[in-house]
Amino acid sequence: MTGLSDSFQRPIDYLRISVTDRCNLRCIYCMPAEGIQLMSHGDILSYEEIHTIAEAAAELGIKKVRITGGEPLVRAGLPKLVQMLAKIKAIDDISLTTNGTLLAHYAAELKSAGLLRVNISLDTLKPDRFKYITRDGNLGDVLAGIEVARSVGLNPTKINVVVMPGINDDELLDFATKTIKDGWHVRFIEHMPFGEEASTSPLFSVNEMRQRLAVLGELEPCSFKGNGPAKYFRLPQAKGTIGFITPVSEHFCFQCNRLRLTADGKLRPCLLSEEEIDLRQSLRSGMSSAKLKRLIKKAVASKPLRHRLAEGCVPQDRSFSQVGG
Ligand code: SAM
Repeated sequence: MTGLSDSFQRPIDYLRISVTDRCNLRCIYCMPAEGIQLMSHGDILSYEEIHTIAEAAAELGIKKVRITGGEPLVRAGLPKLVQMLAKIKAIDDISLTTNGTLLAHYAAELKSAGLLRVNISLDTLKPDRFKYITRDGNLGDVLAGIEVARSVGLNPTKINVVVMPGINDDELLDFATKTIKDGWHVRFIEHMPFGEEASTSPLFSVNEMRQRLAVLGELEPCSFKGNGPAKYFRLPQAKGTIGFITPVSEHFCFQCNRLRLTADGKLRPCLLSEEEIDLRQSLRSGMSSAKLKRLIKKAVASKPLRHRLAEGCVPQDRSFSQVGG
């Protein structure tokens, strides 16, 4: 097999790059109200360092990158990074995960820099509830971001909804209706228990979601562009799609194709394991490209077979926003 593959013969061609641990929202399930202990500016990789790592990874077989955070758009000059990554020939897909609040402002510039598509996290369509979930965010900013992203051609624009019982599960039908009325591509994601809330958070499984949606008609399976584990469907008459992502009820580790780079330069073979390999220190002490590639291969080789959420093994070292979800 050419390219990278791990010890379980999974091809690895996808790198998620977190560019910051900072966020302008404080979603109740992602960050504590008081925020997190932030990395210092000196700890965070420069765009040049990120580019060096992405280039080495691309030479080994990485073809797709997704920029994430924290909130990636709070980092100054993000279009510049997109432009630098777009020049790496082997990388043919650059995407972004964002909360959308600053997207109306940056979408056009990101598109011209080489960004292809965007995922926007949005857990409610109700302004007051949005304020509650995000601890004071403004829903209007995100809706504007979605419109501008679509109009400048960041397609597909996907809307990611983390479904939480008792918080937003009553909005499944509203989101699904958006796939019919406005052609939205909506993905419902099971909430993953992370950190301290691990033992207390109830699961709203994809099976329950599908039962709720049945009143809108039969979900027809369909294929849809993406590099991840979502399964896609379409409602009758809908231009948009509904995707389901089941990290908890039906793990998809057997098809995991990704590595994660944290904002402070650690390569993380698995979102749900604390293992990581430090690239920053070696990079800053003048490591050769050959050594960098060896470290990337080491991270790939150490990818675990699967996560252990069901056994209660949840990473405690970093929050979701610090890994780059
Ligand atoms: N700020 C960006 C955003 O909001 O998309 C990128 C970072 S955010 C950590 C990435 C994604 O992780 C968001 O879609 C968020 O909803 C999701 N997320 C955070 N904590 C989660 C959890 N415990 N379970 C499932 N998804 C989670």
